[in-house]
Amino acid sequence: MNPIEVKNLKKSYGKVEAVRGVSFAVAEGEIFGLLGPNGAGKTTTLEILEGLKQPDSGKIKIMGLDIEKNLSEIRSHVGVVLQSTGLLPELTLAELFELFAGFYENVRPVQELAAEFDLIEILERKYSELSGGQRQRFVLALALLHNPKIVILDEPTLGLDPAVRQRFWDIILSLRGRGITVLLTTHYMEEAEIVCDRVAIIDYGKIVAQDRPTKLINSLGVISRVKFMSSKTINLSELEQITGIVSVRRDRYVYDLETEAPEASLRELLAWEKDFAGKIFNLQVETATLEDVFLKLTGHSLRE
Ligand code: ATP
Repeated sequence: MNPIEVKNLKKSYGKVEAVRGVSFAVAEGEIFGLLGPNGAGKTTTLEILEGLKQPDSGKIKIMGLDIEKNLSEIRSHVGVVLQSTGLLPELTLAELFELFAGFYENVRPVQELAAEFDLIEILERKYSELSGGQRQRFVLALALLHNPKIVILDEPTLGLDPAVRQRFWDIILSLRGRGITVLLTTHYMEEAEIVCDRVAIIDYGKIVAQDRPTKLINSLGVISRVKFMSSKTINLSELEQITGIVSVRRDRYVYDLETEAPEASLRELLAWEKDFAGKIFNLQVETATLEDVFLKLTGHSLRE
């Protein structure tokens, strides 16, 4: 059984068809991302899954349970982090933990959770006094208070600065290690690439592709390149044997390698260089990204 199953979900707001037949399934322990630009229908999809909005049509099963009939049981299995969380801003984190603990039967010890999310030092601080990164850590900790099997995160790193965002990615990745199934939305393609096991690319309310990020990138024939210069002539057939390399070109001392697996190729190239009599320098990698995939599939950029 997949913890999350969504079939042919549709939702319109008046004339705006926000979600136009979305289907996907998330496997246990998987981190699945809905990647798309603003207004693509990501939040609407999540809000329907959280029981906050009614779909016009479609079938949703969470932990094998039909969302229409079992919403309260489903809520005990799901932790949610919304884009803007309407918490009582004047309460301290300790007070908010206590308040929310009262809603559930089985909760994790607050100290343990606070330690895990690096919140011990700020437990007595008011929610309104937290920085963006602290807020996100706290709301995720709060979402995990009742030991949910599924966590749903809407744009978890929106507006965070790069270092804080990176830290948050580690936290999300650590959830997978504990068997928690994660569904998140993002419009940051690097977030989708780094964090998600699989992504569904969504545009104008429709999923245009879904797979592992690397598979999506490779399937479109968007090839990455490794370029470098060499002090000594290299026999091209040696380079052709490197993992992932699909073609090799040389223009005087500049080598231009096309690769399907840029990371693997690069590692092997550097290992190969150790026994090479010359020196390679000015090494550059141009990798294809999910942004390229999005552009190729939709004809427009993710950031538009
Ligand atoms: P964002 O990241 O900006 O929230 P999104 O991909 O999550 O974007 P949604 O918020 O689901 O997209 O919005 C999808 C479409 O539905 C947009 O065109 C939006 O303007 C519209 N929409 C969303 N909520 C409502 C509403 N309550 N009433 C009318 N239209 C809405």
